[in-house]
Amino acid sequence: MIERTLVLLKPDAVERGISGRIIARFEDAGLKIVGMKMIWIDAEFSKRHYAEHVHKSFYPTLEAMITMGPVIALALEGVEAVALVRKMVGHTEPKTAAPGTIRGDFSHVSIHYADAKGIGVKNIIHASDSVINAKKEIELWFKNEELHTYKSVHDVHTIA
Ligand code: AMP
Repeated sequence: MIERTLVLLKPDAVERGISGRIIARFEDAGLKIVGMKMIWIDAEFSKRHYAEHVHKSFYPTLEAMITMGPVIALALEGVEAVALVRKMVGHTEPKTAAPGTIRGDFSHVSIHYADAKGIGVKNIIHASDSVINAKKEIELWFKNEELHTYKSVHDVHTIA
């Protein structure tokens, strides 16, 4: 039941200077940061991360967006963390994302608008969508020695 999930603060979040506020939401919820680093990925790495989207029509704009600047990658751990983090992140399309979610509170554009402009949907953040994909994505983004096991107060007060 304790799961790990991958979160990426995309270049638009990093460039807007809202990384700390987003990370604070996960810490406030009691999720444990077990890995964190800044990395500027290239097109080849983007294709590995977004393998399931490479052949889709929107992929070129997605690749341009994820490689336009550095991202902050986080591995988060907690009780059923994959579903919890997806709930906190909100709907893929910022326009549809509910207020109170990260995308709903920090972004607003529609897919229709981004498509019409020929740009990627700037939706701030990525979160693994399943336990299986979380494992694969954490393996892609982090080396074993970059992931840490330690006790947080939540191990005593939230989880126990
Ligand atoms: P996901 O794997 O669900 O995180 O999707 C990858 C990313 O692709 C999303 O976060 C969006 O940035 C982008 N994306 C997903 N669906 C569309 C779409 N229909 N049009 C444009 N971009 C999309």
